[in-house]
Formats: sequence, structure tokens, C-alpha cells
Amino acid sequence: MRKIAIYGKGGIGKSTTSANVCAALADNDYKVLQIGCDPKHDSTRTIVGDFIPTVLDIWTDSEREGFDITRSMVLFNGYKNISAIEAGGPEPGVGCAGRGIIRTMDILENLNIFEEEYDFVLYDVLGDVVCGGFAKPIQSGYATEIYIVTSGEFMALYAANNIAIAVEKVGKSRGVKLGGIICNSRNVDQEFELVSEFASRINSQMIHFVKRDQLIQKCERLAKTVVEKEGNSEAANGYRVLAQKIVGNNHFAIPAPLFFQELVDLCEKYTT
Ligand code: ATP
Ligand code: MG
Repeated sequence: MRKIAIYGKGGIGKSTTSANVCAALADNDYKVLQIGCDPKHDSTRTIVGDFIPTVLDIWTDSEREGFDITRSMVLFNGYKNISAIEAGGPEPGVGCAGRGIIRTMDILENLNIFEEEYDFVLYDVLGDVVCGGFAKPIQSGYATEIYIVTSGEFMALYAANNIAIAVEKVGKSRGVKLGGIICNSRNVDQEFELVSEFASRINSQMIHFVKRDQLIQKCERLAKTVVEKEGNSEAANGYRVLAQKIVGNNHFAIPAPLFFQELVDLCEKYTT
């Protein structure tokens, strides 16, 4: 079983990338589970076609009403039988989202979710790794293979570098490795070259460059991946290529993050 976590700055395209990669993997008959680790619980919407109930909401109800949680309450099927789970989170403004992820993982463990024979489990994890809860998938061995989504924008690269710092920290003791950087383009100057150099400077690779494409958002509005809805499009083809690269990936490394000034200088180098 390949256990993958997708990290990256807020809004950079983690959920879109995860969902489309899962759809492309499922098209190739792989058995896939995507776990959204984000209180917004929108990670798997394009896979299932709608929002699904979250583990934490079910857990809250089960505590209040005294019933046992079963698999079918938290595990949903989507496109080509992809399994989907949403961790959920506390009410906005109340409680700790990171702690919610930790509780979710315990609940899934008790339901023996990870004993299913999945070929790929993908964790789509909100934001930068700044709190133990969001690092839980990598700290506790749930995910051992990390991909970071970034664009060529400075703050996206800054977040990517911070995630690389976290992966470096836990990598050595937990066997977690960085599988690559996915550039989700924002049409920044020389973005391909910039993100390629960033990836190689931190001891990794830019595994794929995803072009910016409005079709992705059009499909999202219909709660579909482009792979499902517009299978013949260039965008869908791009995700299929990325999925194949992940399947065949053999470049796994403990990252060597940049110092802040090195990151500034790198971005300067590619700014015209
Ligand atoms: P969050 O941190 O809030 O969970 P995220 O990293 O999961 O965000 P997404 O929700 O996947 O980001 O993407 C943010 C928006 O950008 C979405 O509306 C999505 O459709 C759009 N988007 C993502 N990738 C592309 C792309 N390559 N081309 C055009 N739009 C894109
Ligand atoms: Mg998301």
C-alpha cells in the first residue's frame, strides 16, 4: 500500500490535485482511498459528487446520542469506486482542528479502515504543517510519501519550504520521504524553471507541472474532477501523466530545505 500525503499552502490546489490524481489512478483500476484532513470537508466533493458527512460530526452525534460508529457512516464511494473520508473539524471559531485530525485517525484505526487492501491512500492535508494535528499523518506513519503542491509565487514556495522543514524533521525518525514537488501553475514568470530549481535545491524533483486551466474550475462547480467530466481534455491528460509519474516514482529523499534568504534570492533570480 502506498501511503501518500499532499501538503501545500492554503488554496494552492491540494484538493483538486489529490482528487484528480485519485480519479486517474482509479481509471487504471487501482483501489484508492482519499482522506480529507480539512475542516472545510471539501476534499472529496469532486470524487463523490457532493459533500459527505464528516467523521467528527458523526463522532459528536455518537457521543450525544450513544450509538456506535460504523464504517458505512464515515466511508463513502465515489467515481470508479474510490473510497472517500472527510475528517471534518470543530465549529468555526471553537475548538482545535488539529486535535480533530488526531481523533479522526483514532476512530478510523478502531474501524480497521487501514486494513482494507488499498493500493493508494491519499491524505489531503490543510495548509502548512504548523501544528501537531496536521503533522499527524506523517508523524504517526499513516503517510510515508509526501508531495508538496506549490506555484512559483513567493509565499507558496515559502510554505513549501516550511513543509520541507517538517518532513526533514520527522523523515529521519519515521521513514517519511519527499516524493516530489507538484507545480500548480499561477502563470508566474519562468515558473517552470523556478520551481524546478527550488525542487532540486531542496534535494527533490519537480515531479509535474500542472497548467492553469479554467476547465478545472468549471468541473469543480459541477462537483466533478476533470478526469471524470472532461476525460479527453488537456487538463485531464495532465493529471493522468502526474498519476503515472507517482506510480513509477523512484526519487524519494529527505529534503534539505533552504534558508529564508536563499529562497528570496532564488525567487529574485527568476523575476524579470
Ligand atoms: P485549501 O487549502 O483551502 O484546502 P486547496 O489547496 O485544497 O485549498 P483547491 O481547493 O484544490 O486548493 O483549489 C483552490 C481553487 O483553485 C479551486 O477553485 C480550484 O478549482 C482552483 N484550481 C486548482 N488548481 C487549478 C488549476 N491548475 N487551474 C485552474 N484552477 C485551479
Ligand atoms: Mg483543500
